Amino acid sequence: MSTLTITEASCADDYDPNSMPVDKARAFIHQFLQPVRGTLRVPVRDSLGRILAEDVLSPVNVPSHRNSAMDGWAMRGADLAAGAETTLTEIGASFAGKPFDGRVGAGQCVRIMTGGVVPEGADTVVMQERAKANGKSVTFGGVNRTGQNVREAGEDLEAGSVALRRGRIVRPAELGLLASLGVGEVPVYRPLRVAFFSTGDELRSIGSTLGEGEIYDSNRYTLHGMLTRLGCELLDMGVVRDDPAALERAFSEAADVADVVVTSGGVSVGEADFVKSMLGNLGEVVFWKIAMKPGRPLAYGKIRGAHFFGLPGNPVSVMVTFYQFVRDALLVLMGADPVLPVPTFTATCTERLKKAPGRTEFQRGVLARGAGGRLEVRPTGEQGSGILKSMSDANCFIILGDSTGNVEPGAIVEVQLLEGIV
Ligand code: AMP
Ligand code: MG
Repeated sequence: MSTLTITEASCADDYDPNSMPVDKARAFIHQFLQPVRGTLRVPVRDSLGRILAEDVLSPVNVPSHRNSAMDGWAMRGADLAAGAETTLTEIGASFAGKPFDGRVGAGQCVRIMTGGVVPEGADTVVMQERAKANGKSVTFGGVNRTGQNVREAGEDLEAGSVALRRGRIVRPAELGLLASLGVGEVPVYRPLRVAFFSTGDELRSIGSTLGEGEIYDSNRYTLHGMLTRLGCELLDMGVVRDDPAALERAFSEAADVADVVVTSGGVSVGEADFVKSMLGNLGEVVFWKIAMKPGRPLAYGKIRGAHFFGLPGNPVSVMVTFYQFVRDALLVLMGADPVLPVPTFTATCTERLKKAPGRTEFQRGVLARGAGGRLEVRPTGEQGSGILKSMSDANCFIILGDSTGNVEPGAIVEVQLLEGIV
């Protein structure tokens, strides 16, 4: 664990002396993150979305045998005349999975298909488009080079070398690679246990009738979705009232059973004060006003051994702060290495965006190809931090940096997709 104390977080900022820039808050949190301890071995298919806890060494050569990269004929390269046609005698065939049982001598060739074992004696393959067969007599033309179209055993991966490094998130490509090596079980980190609850006297659970001023708790549902997608083990602790004793019990219980505690609500100015003093008794927590919109209030700290993320209450703010702060932090804790930030790229904004300098805004956008094929983005409409539909309609964030002011139609903006392709 880091020796830094969490309460050393500075709130210095170029614009507002009381607010914390997004990057600084992110970097601050990352000082305290170490992968969980505890690994297990799982069958290859079950490792999808999990993180490798050890390097996986290749038990075999890939490819396992010298094979052809083309459909054609295999022969000795020395037999092919330079710049002239050469006629050789076909003595057999080597198909994928059905090798030729013999040796290719001078003046001879073997019909071969892609993936077929290159027979003993042969070292070169000529593709069929450059050959003319007349019964067993085959004439080859074109310019050839000894060794062409032959894939050597171990060319892609040598037996004993590292096929996949510790920290790699297993995606479909890794499942296939592991299978291609004949690996049946892989060591992965145990799932990260994340306890979460919503705070607020106004919150009701689905199934109950709403009284005056009451709303359904939606944050536990978006959190359920985001945490499940990351592959965490979930402990949904429900709704906790704005009551110091109830909150203290909930925080204490959550920190006892989980690696990470995520809450929503109760960290904004006014509400934060009693949560602050209560969490001060249980652990070390900093409360930030982040220079961002939405998602201004945010708390981070340690409650006993558990990491704590106190997200704002507004439904859009919960999702934005989760994606911008919690996602990467959880991946580090889950053992992912390296954790690359979600990539951003640029697109042409087709509408005017209102934006005040001095904070980073994460507006919700719809990215699509415009006429002529260029990437264009437009905002989803009303951007209020309580309007969850703005997230649901969006397929990306439009990220407007601290120094950016209003954006005019036609301007280039930075976007970040909400979905990955794998
Ligand atoms: P708070 O940060 O607790 O002041 O909450 C800010 C706003 O978000 C208020 O309008 C709350 O009613 C709303 N809110 C807080 N928690 C939830 C929740 N779990 N689901 C939906 N809205 C919430
Ligand atoms: Mg509240």
